[in-house]
Amino acid sequence: MFSKLAHFQAVAVLRHGVHSSVASAASVTTKRTAQGPLSSDYIFERESKCGAHNYHPLPVALERGKGVYVWDVEGRRYFDFLSAYGAVNQGHCHPKIVNALKSQVDKLTLTSRAFYNNVLGEYEEYVTKLFNYHKVLPMNTGVEAGETACKVARKWAYTVKGIQKYKAKIVFVVGNFWGRTLAAISSSTDPTSYDGFGPFMPGFEVIPYNDLPALERALQDPNVAAFMVEAVQGEAGVVVPDPGYLTGVRELCTRYQVLFIAGEVQTGLARTGRWLAVDHENVRPDIVLLGKALSGGLYPVSAVLCDDEIMLTMRPGEHGSTYSGNPLGCQVAIAALEVWEEENLAENADRMGAILRNELMKLPSDIVTAVRGKGLLNAIVIRETKDYDAWKVCLRLRDNGLLAKPTHGDIIRLAPLLMIKEDEIQESVEIIIKTILSF
Ligand code: PLP
Repeated sequence: MFSKLAHFQAVAVLRHGVHSSVASAASVTTKRTAQGPLSSDYIFERESKCGAHNYHPLPVALERGKGVYVWDVEGRRYFDFLSAYGAVNQGHCHPKIVNALKSQVDKLTLTSRAFYNNVLGEYEEYVTKLFNYHKVLPMNTGVEAGETACKVARKWAYTVKGIQKYKAKIVFVVGNFWGRTLAAISSSTDPTSYDGFGPFMPGFEVIPYNDLPALERALQDPNVAAFMVEAVQGEAGVVVPDPGYLTGVRELCTRYQVLFIAGEVQTGLARTGRWLAVDHENVRPDIVLLGKALSGGLYPVSAVLCDDEIMLTMRPGEHGSTYSGNPLGCQVAIAALEVWEEENLAENADRMGAILRNELMKLPSDIVTAVRGKGLLNAIVIRETKDYDAWKVCLRLRDNGLLAKPTHGDIIRLAPLLMIKEDEIQESVEIIIKTILSF
């Protein structure tokens, strides 16, 4: 008890307006009612003391977001160039989506799927028509969409393709990312994701990305049920495959009767300048996974889309989640999709992304060794030296008013909100160039 009090007293002095140890433990422990705003330092310290250390956030403590901007607790404004990993594509606190949430929250929030509710069907009808698939299976997080697709693919393999029970395989690529559950990390090639967490899920195989001959060799195995791939690899550091790759994937999957699962949780919903990233090659996957921006960042909503022959292999009771298909999430998702259609976000992302990459190409190549991306999913690769790396660049970007996050040590993802305007892109580019040139 004593050490807990001492801790709270220690962090109390970090709060604005709480400068004295006389500001007793009692006032700090009841901090929710305490006076005065919280300082960034207090927020960092409190999370570090009380929360698991499974993230390494950039030191900035945000309290407000609107459109393309976020503000920290000290009132500083930043361009958000991460967009919550693509979840707030439509803009922070988009009024239409916020209103949809507000109007539903007083009526009915959760029924579970034990009963029907009056919103789920409306959402299902809308999303399936929009993406032209027979069925949707709603889930909550992106990783659950991936997990669901693996289950559906296995079920399809045993009931339709005729693979011997429990022999089905799913093929993934190097650098794949679809979340953090045990199944998802079982296919991961990133030691930070999987190391120390085995044993791993059997029946998963990994081949190189962007390598059609390797895919063909893998698919010749008659036990392969599915191939899961991102049309642009987000978490791997925005890795764009060669033109023709997705077309080749489609052809090979068809030829070998293997389900093509497109992981569009990050790339979908206009992020890469098309409705789905697979639209860059006009291919139709057998299964599409959506998440993140499907709710505009207000609520976890994810989806698995596919046709009846695949989806109806899943029978009542075989899959689900308490919150999946809840009326609140469905109402939010309908509004988020309407915004996405009404505001031509794909077109804007395509245009703004081209301007962004064009400007970033001008950065000195002794510091920035590559600029790549599609639409508004972009990355720069920083040449690491003893003086700077991607983390240090991101810290200085923050100081200059732009938030981005490094990945894999040397890559900085640049993914602003999709309604960003040209003058805002130009202002952001100036910040990025000024920051890079300061090293
Ligand atoms: N799939 C892809 C392609 C992703 O990029 C992510 C998250 O970044 C996920 C799945 C996991 O989504 P969630 O964090 O909502 O589980």
